[in-house]
Order: sequence, then C-alpha cells, then structure tokens
Amino acid sequence: MGHAFGTAEVLDSLRHVIQCPACGGALEGDGPLVCTDCGAQYGFTDTGNLDLRLGEPKQVHVDLVVGEMRQAPYEFSVGQRARPVGAVIPPEVVPASFGPLLDSYVPPAPTPDAIAVDIGCGPELGRRMLEAAGWNYVGLDIEHPDCPLFGDVHAMPFRDDSIGLVLAAATVEEWAYRLVGLKEVRRVLTPGGHFIGTTGFLLPDCGDQHRSTVRGLANLFGDAGLTAPKIMAAPGYTGYDAISEIAGFPRAFRLGKAVAWLPKSASRAWWGVGRLLDQRSSSETWHRRIGGAWTFVSRAPES
Ligand SMILES: [Zn+2]
Repeated sequence: MGHAFGTAEVLDSLRHVIQCPACGGALEGDGPLVCTDCGAQYGFTDTGNLDLRLGEPKQVHVDLVVGEMRQAPYEFSVGQRARPVGAVIPPEVVPASFGPLLDSYVPPAPTPDAIAVDIGCGPELGRRMLEAAGWNYVGLDIEHPDCPLFGDVHAMPFRDDSIGLVLAAATVEEWAYRLVGLKEVRRVLTPGGHFIGTTGFLLPDCGDQHRSTVRGLANLFGDAGLTAPKIMAAPGYTGYDAISEIAGFPRAFRLGKAVAWLPKSASRAWWGVGRLLDQRSSSETWHRRIGGAWTFVSRAPES
C-alpha cells in the first residue's frame, strides 16, 4: 500500500542535519539530492520515502586494541524508573514493546530545535513518546515503508554532533556490525547527547543476529567511545518468560506466560533461600544471569 509523504516537507525539516552517507559531504538540490564531494545522488522511493541509504557498499575501518583485559565500566541494576509513570510522558504514548523503564529515561529536549533520532523506528514507533518530551522527531529505518526516511545505521546520513538523543528500541540486535553502528551513534550525537534503548538477552531467535550479556554490552559501548552505560533488567522479566511467550507457545501469549511462571517462581524461591546464606545471591545477580532483555542508558562524552 502506497504511503504518500509530504516529500518536500520531510526534506526541508532535515536539510540542516543530513549529509552524504557515503562520504560525509554536503547534499544539495531537491531530489535528486547531489553530494557536493563525491557526486552520489539520493532521491525518493516510489512510496515517497526520502532514501539516504548507501547507493553501493562502503569499506569501513574499525580500530581496536587487543592484548589487554576488556572491562569497560558500567552500572547494572534491576530497573528503577528514573521518574514516576506519566511525570513527563503520558503512559498512553509509550509502546508496550519499549518495556516498563525506557520512557522514564527520555530526557526533556534541551532546546526547541533539538533533534531525536529513532533508529529502526518501523512505523515511527517512538514518535509520540519523544515529541511528548519536546524533541523534534526523526525516524530512521532501513526499509520500513511507513518511515519517511530510509537510512543505514552503519552509515548514518546525519552530520557530526547534530543529534541530541538517539533512541534504539529492540534494534541493536539486528545490526550486522554493532560496533560500527554504535560508533555512528557516537559520531552523530552532540557532546553529552543521550543514547537510550533496549536490547534482548535471553530471547529466542527472532530472526535477528546478536545477544549480549551485561558485560558484553558494556564492552561494546566502551569500544564505541560512549560513556559507561547504565544497564537495567525489568523486574521479573526473565528468559523463562521471554522464551516461553515468544517461541515456546507462539500465538498463545497467556499460555506461555503461565507455563513460565512455575520454573521462574521456583528459581526465585531457591535464590531467596540462597540469599539467607550468602548475600552475593542477590536479586541483581539473578536478573543479570537470566534477564530477558536490557534497557540501556548512555551518552556521548562531553568533549
Ligand atoms: Zn558523498
């Protein structure tokens, strides 16, 4: 089904932040857009999406240091909300798939022209949530027809230091090269800009590519030059729940939830006994080992 976007409108609202994804050059014109440096051309798809994806594959170099312990700092907790439900963002504009924590970590926009990018936005899932916090919303998706702007996280069509907030809800696990994408997030963020999102841990195969432990996720953020993340588990949401609800009993969510209840509750009780004997058997440790998904909060460095 065709989706006619106001193509000129979309382009006008983005013109001051976009750049050539291939070389970083300036884009001129009204469609086709032409890169003033490499001559690459960009236009609109048949369904009216502004298409700033790479026209052809691009070689990317990532420098890494080996031979030392990879132990980037982070904080882990069983998620506390940063503020009460509804304090800044009305609960009805928060998609259930974002989980119970993420919206509370959306910072209010610092200025009226501040931009938030929603990576892998699909049908602009995060729009109403981010607009409620005062952000100018830009959804970016590799191919979802209901997203006005097509682009690739590995070569984002945004200028350096131009974006105040990047949202990545359940998408990092889909990126072919997560470190490349995270370095792009770091590049486009303003100094001190915010990076928030969710990613799966003990989930079944949902057609995506990656899962990370807390340690692995923290190291990725460190490698990308992002600040030490806060990584949070949603209270009580474990791999038992995720696997049973999503894959164990497809199309029978309530049955899956019910089936997961017994092993989850038994495990929690067993750990409760352990906690009487050993303080290290904490609820944090339990969630860290069998959490279903993580919510993360990080930033670009201030300078
Ligand atoms: Zn170019």
